Amino acid sequence: MKGTDRHRAKRSLGQNFLVDPAYAARITAAIDAMPGETVIEIGPGHGALTEKLVGARADVIAIELDAGLCFELREKFAGRPNFRLIEGDALNVDYGSLAIGTVKLAANLPYNISTAILQKLAKHSQNFSVLVLMLQKEVVDRITAKPGSSDRGFLTVLVESSFEAQKLFDVPPAAFRPRPKVMSSVVQMVPAKYDIPERPGFRRLLSTAFAQKRKTILNNLKVTFPYAANALSEVGIEERRRAESLTLEEWLRLHAIIGGHAG
Ligand code: SAM
Repeated sequence: MKGTDRHRAKRSLGQNFLVDPAYAARITAAIDAMPGETVIEIGPGHGALTEKLVGARADVIAIELDAGLCFELREKFAGRPNFRLIEGDALNVDYGSLAIGTVKLAANLPYNISTAILQKLAKHSQNFSVLVLMLQKEVVDRITAKPGSSDRGFLTVLVESSFEAQKLFDVPPAAFRPRPKVMSSVVQMVPAKYDIPERPGFRRLLSTAFAQKRKTILNNLKVTFPYAANALSEVGIEERRRAESLTLEEWLRLHAIIGGHAG
């Protein structure tokens, strides 16, 4: 009996296992792991992607929370020196301490923690050379939304300030067992070449500006930043605009004026 048949999928852990090998092959091709290269995999599950990465002779560090799946993975990859398993929560892992130098990261992410994981990865973007992630299509649409799109929000700008994200392809529900209710998409993310000073201030600026999407940027910002009107005029941003219309470059200019202040 295969592991997929024995294991009862846990919805609380976002367990929709990839059963179509063609998509597993496309994701691993996008990661392009070379022998000896370190690839971190979040949520290996039954090992659909893992076996391709291990087969490519990459040094795979897999992080899985489900104890039953960890048992299965240890059996499956016993005797493979290029496979290491961390049994635990991917949200609590210190990605900077897992390997020397930059690493690649691959994941068919558990959808219930995808936003929290993206925020964590954005904080540690400089630890990676490339990330290939499967997410709900709706989340990929959000993180790749251009200025002016109503999909653009806090998460979009946070991710855009850390990575260049490019959607690669969609994956239909039929590729998984059990089938999710929604479409999925695979996105490739490469760390941005610059780093943002005062990141906590930048996050505070974004969360304040996007607090109520229907409000103007000034009405949102002035709740936390009393001098918001002056700051907007100083950087040449019309105060009646909505946060979703700003480009990354405008956010960075605004951050340089008010992002680091306590408000
Ligand atoms: N990679 C496998 C595949 O493509 O078939 C499984 C993907 S499934 C969508 C998500 C996996 O993440 C499951 O194995 C689940 O147990 C695991 N998981 C859920 N929450 C996790 C967490 N906080 N940390 C690590 N793994 C987690």
